[in-house]
Parts: sequence; structure tokens; C-alpha cells
Amino acid sequence: MLDAEFFDLTVVGGGPVGLAAAGAAAARGLSVLVVERFDFHGGHGSSGGAERQWRLQYAETDLSALTLHARTAWRDLAARTRRRVVHETGSLWFGDTTQSSSEGQIEAAVAVLDELEIAYQRVDNDELRTRYGFHDLPADYHGIHQPQGGVLDVAAARWALLDSAAGLGCALHSGETVLDIAPDGNGVTVHTDRGRYRCGHVVVTAGAWTPAVLDRIGVSVDLTLYELTQAHFRLRTDRDYPTWFAFQNATDTDSNLFYGFGRTPWADDDLVQVSPLFEADPIADPAAARRAPREHDLRRVTEWVRDHMPDLEPQPLHAGTCVAALPTDHGRQFYLGSAAGLVPDGERVVVCAGGWGFKFVPVFGEACVQLALDGRTRYGLERSGLTATSVTGATA
Ligand SMILES: Cc1cc2nc3c(=O)[nH]c(=O)nc-3n(C[C@H](O)[C@H](O)[C@H](O)COP(=O)(O)OP(=O)(O)OC[C@H]3O[C@@H](n4cnc5c(N)ncnc54)[C@H](O)[C@@H]3O)c2cc1C
Repeated sequence: MLDAEFFDLTVVGGGPVGLAAAGAAAARGLSVLVVERFDFHGGHGSSGGAERQWRLQYAETDLSALTLHARTAWRDLAARTRRRVVHETGSLWFGDTTQSSSEGQIEAAVAVLDELEIAYQRVDNDELRTRYGFHDLPADYHGIHQPQGGVLDVAAARWALLDSAAGLGCALHSGETVLDIAPDGNGVTVHTDRGRYRCGHVVVTAGAWTPAVLDRIGVSVDLTLYELTQAHFRLRTDRDYPTWFAFQNATDTDSNLFYGFGRTPWADDDLVQVSPLFEADPIADPAAARRAPREHDLRRVTEWVRDHMPDLEPQPLHAGTCVAALPTDHGRQFYLGSAAGLVPDGERVVVCAGGWGFKFVPVFGEACVQLALDGRTRYGLERSGLTATSVTGATA
């Protein structure tokens, strides 16, 4: 048998986080291989669609601070690749300010913004209608507007990260699936459906597929997969919106959470996204996704638009879905850590998966490489690491 080709670092999964990790490793002089089972255009995993919310407010101080690192990293990437990802169109959070959701909680986030001296404005019920165009909301709804929040251009991010990784000499293999990773005292063997590679470290950024990749070495991350609906409505006036999220009490049938965006800054059209955030009917595997919105979601988001957003046509022009991989434990936002101490030679395996992580992509990539090479990150994300309870040794 031919000797396996050697790379200092292999990345399993060429989504945005994997590409960011590849670029960060190559920038430190490492030889890097990225193995992606589909293609680098995305859409199969959790990075489908045109836009993602960009916000500085978090209910946790370390995560808000992390957005500031991410902002610097996105700016650096934009300067290097001439592709702008972050558009600061503002971020509006409103609703019941004591209501908690997987997005956070308004009053807790306000305390963090105060602590970090990040500017924001309070928005009262009247302004939600007159200034921001949300009508007939309950009288006790109010919120905050954070002007440096906004929207992330998903395609620009992907091209910038791909460009950067390719320019730094990373080997980019699409249409190739990693079947197995096997760390040992001298390195890691990576088996794919096309062959075998040897490397010093492996970074697993396989999104919703991460549990399947890790189970083979006896480490599990506990992710729950939801196929979320994304709907687009046509504007019928000149109105524009900031990026927004409505915090509401759950109904008997769903979480009653809705979010949306303004006009797309990088495209000259009159469509805006308004979507429900209903974490319901989890799927066992990304392959189980129906690739069609749930009727319930469509009905409810249409009702929300009809009742509160009169500047939009009442029926969506288009709706699709994307699979979110969220930590089952709502107390943690994502997994980012190495398997050091969990399995033999685990320090050679680093994992980043799950959560609302698009905004953090460049710092996640860098943190993965720091964990692999330095054993720790400069971001202090220990609480997101893999824990002893993550070790199962069993296959799902
Ligand atoms: C509807 C929706 C809305 C969201 N909104 C926001 C938001 O507003 N703000 C925010 O910050 N985040 C948001 N997120 C989360 C964010 O989109 C994800 O955190 C991010 O896109 C994940 O990127 P990734 O690179 O980790 O995963 P992915 O993009 O899923 O990439 C994983 C890659 O690994 C590949 N792969 C898997 N298994 C293998 C294998 N065995 N071998 C080779 N390759 C493999 C897959 O093909 C895939 O390309 C949202 C997610 C969804 C679904």
C-alpha cells in the first residue's frame, strides 16, 4: 500500500468554521487538508440561505466579548479578501424583556452591554411602531436597538474564507467523506471514502454530522437537530428594518419566537426575511431533513406578518429550510474544545460544532488552531469545551 499523504492538520468539514480553521492553520505555516463531503458552496449543512444575524448583545459577558473579537476578525478577513461580510444595519430586540429564549434574554443582555460599555438605545412601545414599523404589539412590549449589530452576508463569508484558505495553499477536497479518524501517539490517521491520510492534528467541524464523526473515537457531542423554516416576504412600501428578534411567551403550540432582517444591503431587491424560530420536531440525522417548510411554521409566520408588519405583502414569496444543530443542553451555546484527557491521544483532536455560531466563524477557526497547537485558546472559552460526560464510547 502507498504511504498515506501527510498534512500537519486535517479539517473534517469545509463549512465556514472549517474553512476558517484551515486558513488560520495555514497562516501559521502548517500544511492543511480540508475534506468536505459535498461542495464548498454550502447549503447541505447549517450554513444555507443568504443571511445571518450579527449582534453584539448576549446575556453572557464572555460571549458578548467574543463578538468584539469576531468583529475584528471579520474586518481583517474583509481587508485581506476585499469581501465584506458584516453590514451594520442595526439590531433590534423587542418583546417581553424578561422572556428567555435560545437567543438570550433582553434585560440580561442589557446588563452585559452596560458592563462592556457597548452603546444601545432603549426603544419604547410607540417607537416600535412609528420608527421600526411593528404594529399592534402588546402594550408592555419594548426593547433595545444596538446600532453596530446587523446582518452577515453568508455567500461573501464563504467566498472570503475559501479564497483565503486556497490562497494560503490549503488542499481543498470536495466530494470526499471522512469515514474514520484514529489518533495515536504519533499523529492521526484519517480514512475517507477516497483514501487515507496521516496528519499531526484533526479539527472536526462537521456541523450536524459531528456526532457521527466523533462517535468512532468514543467522544460524543450532544446536538439536537431542527429543520428551521426561513421565509421571504416582499416589501410593498419604502420601509426598511434593522435585523430584529421578537421575544414572546410561548403559545400552546410553539415557542412563538420570530426574527427577521431588513433589505439585503448587498442585493438590490425588495425582499426581506421573516422567520419563525420554532425548535420543534427534531430530526435524527441531517439526511432526514424534508427540505420543505412545516405547514405550521408557514401559517404562523404569515399570521405574524399579517398582524404586525403591514409594510409587507401578507404571503411569503418563498420559503425554505436549513438544519440547525443546537447543543441539547441549553446552558451551553456551542462545543469548542479538544478531546485531550478524554480519549487516548485526544489532544490531537479538536472539535467545534453547534449553536448560533455564524457570527463567531473567524474566531472559532482561530480558536480551533490554538487548541490544536497551543493547547488553549486566547479567548477563554473553557466552559464550551468537551467534558468528561461527553465521553460515551458507544456508537449512536
Ligand atoms: C436557520 C438558521 C438560522 C441561523 N441563524 C443564525 C444567526 O442569525 N446568527 C448566527 O450567528 N448563527 C446562526 N445560525 C447558525 C450558523 O448558521 C451555524 O452556526 C454555522 O453556519 C455553522 O457552520 P459550520 O461550518 O460549523 O457547519 P456547516 O456549515 O454545517 O458545515 C459542516 C460541513 O461539514 C461537512 N461534513 C459533515 N460530515 C462530513 C464528513 N464526514 N466528511 C467530510 N465533510 C463532512 C458538511 O458537508 C458541511 O459542509 C443559524 C442556523 C440556521 C440553520
